[in-house]
Amino acid sequence: MAIAAPRSYVREARRRVAPKRERIRPIIERLAAAHPDAVIALRFRDPIQLLVSVMLSAQTTDVTVNRVTEKLFRKYRRPEDYLAVPLEELEADIRPTGTFRMKARNLRGAMKMLLEEFHGEVPEKLDDLVRLPGVGRKTANVVAAERGATQGIVVDTHVRRLSQRLGLTRRDDPVKIERDLMRNVPREDWARFPHLLIWHGRRVCDARRPRCEDCVLADLCPSSRV
Ligand code: SF4
Repeated sequence: MAIAAPRSYVREARRRVAPKRERIRPIIERLAAAHPDAVIALRFRDPIQLLVSVMLSAQTTDVTVNRVTEKLFRKYRRPEDYLAVPLEELEADIRPTGTFRMKARNLRGAMKMLLEEFHGEVPEKLDDLVRLPGVGRKTANVVAAERGATQGIVVDTHVRRLSQRLGLTRRDDPVKIERDLMRNVPREDWARFPHLLIWHGRRVCDARRPRCEDCVLADLCPSSRV
């Protein structure tokens, strides 16, 4: 019996729509109207808490991170605090976020570097942020954007999927997707654009079952089923 090929929205992106340069503004405006609450879901009060939250959020939910950090941030207030306890204690304190051994090691490495090279402050430049252990381009972009120092566009799994479905990129590699988006998304929207795609991805453009019939972008989307 023949096995059905997996549906590829990228390959199916054949519907005729205007060039992406013309569609990008209405896409942003409609998403902003549909998701006025599209902001980062992590809870933090200062740049150190922001950095820690984003580092802990890899491969887990924001809800889990917020639950863990509520207690964590009462105990660990400064970079020194992450180095003052035995590694096993920090591991236990972040355990529910998963891959806790690696995250604990990276947190300590990052805090050590902040103290040794950045006077205990979180740097704003992407080039400095990505030098911190455990901080990749995505984490660095989130931290920079939330501090008002946006230098790129965050590409996570939702941003990648929606950018492809919307025909804003044909790439798979996050760095190349980011480059494509930076060419088309107006600079002033670089910070909010990923949040809009993330919330739209969670609420409407689901990975397996996109609800095109309820989507405000249906007439702008080459992958729309309606
Ligand atoms: S849900 Fe919207 S963005 Fe996603 S594929 Fe359908 S029309 Fe396109």
